[in-house]
Amino acid sequence: MTARIGFVGLGNMGGPMARNLAKAGHRVAVFDIVPDLVSRCVAAGATAAGSAAEAAREADFVITMLPAGQHVREAWLGAGGMAAASRPDAVLVDCSTIDVATAREVAAGCGRAFLDAPVSGGVMGAENATLTFMVGGPDAAFAAAEPVLNRMGRAAIHCGGAGAGQAAKACNNMILAATMIATCEAFVLAEKLGLTHQALFDVVSKSSGQSWSVTSYCPVPGPVPASPANRDYAPGFAAALMLKDLGLAAEAAAQTGAETPMGAKALELYRAFVQAGNGSVDFSGIIRTLRGGG
Ligand code: NAD
Repeated sequence: MTARIGFVGLGNMGGPMARNLAKAGHRVAVFDIVPDLVSRCVAAGATAAGSAAEAAREADFVITMLPAGQHVREAWLGAGGMAAASRPDAVLVDCSTIDVATAREVAAGCGRAFLDAPVSGGVMGAENATLTFMVGGPDAAFAAAEPVLNRMGRAAIHCGGAGAGQAAKACNNMILAATMIATCEAFVLAEKLGLTHQALFDVVSKSSGQSWSVTSYCPVPGPVPASPANRDYAPGFAAALMLKDLGLAAEAAAQTGAETPMGAKALELYRAFVQAGNGSVDFSGIIRTLRGGG
């Protein structure tokens, strides 16, 4: 199937995602407020649009990949009016990571079939088309959009109605933050007890303390050669992005009355880590702070 796709927000994630759609043969009209980012996508086969609304106008699917909730609300419902400019039968897809409440507000206000579809997998996942999409919205819109999402990722999970994708993302990343901190603490304790990193890894990776933070993203160099610890904690997944996601989880917890003490503690620790100048350090680098090394 060749679809007409409008794509707005061509940064670290959106740029490679839009290029993968163009490489797959879709007709992709792209827009970003930074002209160089548009040019990079045009070089990969996309067409430049003069505005976000123009990118949306003819498209079967309109996709946004923007920084935060206020950008998403403004892009779809604001003066630039991407939703109003789009065809009444278009499927609108926001892949940004934003708060659940704004995702639901845009879904209710856009007058079109709207999916919230945040991703897991980071910049490498965007480049290699191996992202996981967690999707909220109507069944028919998900069924229509799934083949397009599959060109940018390897899995799209339909989580429920409007906002369910953002809810799943916030919950997943709250687990990730808490397990990473617990994993770091365990390695620091092991160091003090004279246990080698490799010995702890060999036990935990085959025992009940096992998690992605241990087996894929081990926060000490050695046991998992591809983990950021082996390259001085170059991201990977920058601590500033983890802090953003924990803020969204805390907001959702406050709005719903959910008790999330571990999530709150993780937010506090990552806020201090970022405020100490580590925003662009991989989030596993928090082990240095837990060792008392700043
Ligand atoms: P980014 O800052 O690199 O890209 C955002 C892009 O949006 C920029 O190019 C910016 O110019 C553009 N933009 C902003 N306002 C615009 C507007 N009104 N019209 C058109 N373009 C506009 O950010 P990113 O790393 O690509 O992240 C995008 C989203 O994906 C965020 O919500 C982030 O939390 C989420 N995310 C990022 C990662 C990651 O590893 N980078 C992983 C998962 C999810």
